[in-house]
Amino acid sequence: MMTCKEATDQVTDYLDGRVPHGKRIGIWLHLMMCVRCRSYVNQMRQVVELIGDLSKQPLTTAPPDVRDALMAEFRRRKNAPADGPGHVEDGEDAEDAEDER
Ligand SMILES: [Zn+2]
Repeated sequence: MMTCKEATDQVTDYLDGRVPHGKRIGIWLHLMMCVRCRSYVNQMRQVVELIGDLSKQPLTTAPPDVRDALMAEFRRRKNAPADGPGHVEDGEDAEDAEDER
């Protein structure tokens, strides 16, 4: 039986599919038996998916926390006006303004 350390040490490889088949079963078995490692893997998987999403998808699909932090940083650097073209933060006001135009 694999120890918790052995299992968690290989979790990132396991999630990336880089673990040989025989070892995969060992890790999987350990995860079936061990709640602590299972929750650890779930957390790791979420992080891996999050990083994957961030690198291949537009900023708008990031979780709100991450997006807000990134947008705040982005605005501070660029110092762009909030009502620039394509900005949809004030969505309801923009719809009203469109009728007046
Ligand atoms: Zn464990």
